[in-house]
Amino acid sequence: MSNLDTTPAATRCGGRADVSAAPVRDLLAGRTVQLGESTEVRRLLPNLGRRMVGAWCFVDHYGPDDIADEPGMQVPPHPHMGLQTVSWLHDGEVLHRDSLGSLQTVRPRELGLMTSGRAIAHSEESPRDHARYLHGAQLWVALPDATRDTAPSFEHHRVLPEVTGGGLHATVILGDLDGAASPGTIHTPLVGADLTLAAGTDARLPLDPDFEYAVLTMSGESHVDGVPLTPGSLLYLGCGRRELPLRADTPASLMLLGGEPFAERIIMWWNFVARTSEEITDARTAWQSATRFGDVHGYDGERLTAPVLPPTPLKPRGRAR
Ligand code: MN
Repeated sequence: MSNLDTTPAATRCGGRADVSAAPVRDLLAGRTVQLGESTEVRRLLPNLGRRMVGAWCFVDHYGPDDIADEPGMQVPPHPHMGLQTVSWLHDGEVLHRDSLGSLQTVRPRELGLMTSGRAIAHSEESPRDHARYLHGAQLWVALPDATRDTAPSFEHHRVLPEVTGGGLHATVILGDLDGAASPGTIHTPLVGADLTLAAGTDARLPLDPDFEYAVLTMSGESHVDGVPLTPGSLLYLGCGRRELPLRADTPASLMLLGGEPFAERIIMWWNFVARTSEEITDARTAWQSATRFGDVHGYDGERLTAPVLPPTPLKPRGRAR
């Protein structure tokens, strides 16, 4: 997915100043963002109250939308730099094309993982013949300085490890949860998991006390560490937890995101994660002049045009808020 804001602000994030070393229960409202003409998403990261959770730096939750008589998701070719994108669906399908030549339909509970490294371009669309409902999340993971210039790649994993117990069914999307590790490639210690809670769930999910965590709701209502949670908000949990109490009276579905606090300071602008203003400017110029990022073949439509850069220099700041 692309940031389709025509005048996006630069977001400075990373650094440990904003990290809660102890457990907290910080409920953060997402905001509604219009993507193109038909798709509305709930943006949970970056958030006014929080910009990153571990290396997770961008989270959009969309749907469930009835797209029976609509084109559905139509995100034209656009570039990425310095990050990984995670496509995660509960309903529907997304056809991914990229400048490496990948052509892959990603279906519910399969991992579509694109590592941009220094440069990649991709498009995402609902296929012409698509399921009635589209429901999913698009997430970005910031790459650390040591590997952000790595070669771009795309991975598709149909089979992911699962952890079950006490009414809870967890699918490990990325990283490691309770000893079960996703096959997806990661570059910093982190976890992303899909949590399905059956009616009557009363479970405790083992966590890593060195990670910071947050939870978002995909569907239903639940109580996470006692906090009632519904779709549209993000519950930041801080670090220092060895387990997380989860309860649900009726079926619910959550995503758990966590990771070692991301100590490096970064700048996010449009679809790029960088360290300096010059890198952002250069990447924008490269995309506009159709160099570096490569071409996406087969998408029926024009590539996205980069938005105008904000007037002030984009400098990383010492404090993340
Ligand atoms: Mn994208």
